Amino acid sequence: MTNTQGRNPRRHDSGAVRIESLTLLEIESILSSDAHYAATQTRNYGERDPLHDPADCLFRCPCGNTPVLNYAAPPPNALRLLSRPLSRGDGNAFYVGCPACGKVGQPSLRDWRAVIDWNYLTASVQAGSLGAVPYFNLAGLTAQQAKDRLNSIKYDLSLRRAQAKMRREQGDDVGGRFLARIDAYLGWANVAIRVLTTSPSPAPDLVHARPQVA
Ligand SMILES: [Zn+2]
Repeated sequence: MTNTQGRNPRRHDSGAVRIESLTLLEIESILSSDAHYAATQTRNYGERDPLHDPADCLFRCPCGNTPVLNYAAPPPNALRLLSRPLSRGDGNAFYVGCPACGKVGQPSLRDWRAVIDWNYLTASVQAGSLGAVPYFNLAGLTAQQAKDRLNSIKYDLSLRRAQAKMRREQGDDVGGRFLARIDAYLGWANVAIRVLTTSPSPAPDLVHARPQVA
């Protein structure tokens, strides 16, 4: 056995890598099983549609100011965050930027994805504040309960995502909005886990409140 066997540095703890090796039949048999039903804590993720007005859910910038969702040609420091170029030709994309300090998030052709990427990037400003995540009904849970719920949700979503993609490959009519919504919920679950596990960022107010030497 080698070190690299089956390893994927991008894998999450949702089992997503393992899911990719399953057939559609296997996925559907898991999804319809009593065991999966019992292990899935909820499919009620909350009232908000994650594709609708995503900028309402932006985390503040670590500098303390309010970021903005832009649709424009992303600046070079935002383009550098992309692992591959955007596919559309006109050069415009959604990206979140802070007008005060210039911090930017990763550009995307989807507004909700740009918001989720920014929130993931800045999750430390909400460290431990489960109420900052508008999905999954996390408020009032302990950190461990929240983590268990999020991992259960991620596994269920990952299975349903794989199922939808395979059905689409077979020619079934799987709505793009349906897949996008699954991706958005998965993104928010990752943001929520980061909020739970990250350390607080230094409070800018405290930094600025240090006595100034004239
Ligand atoms: Zn800022």
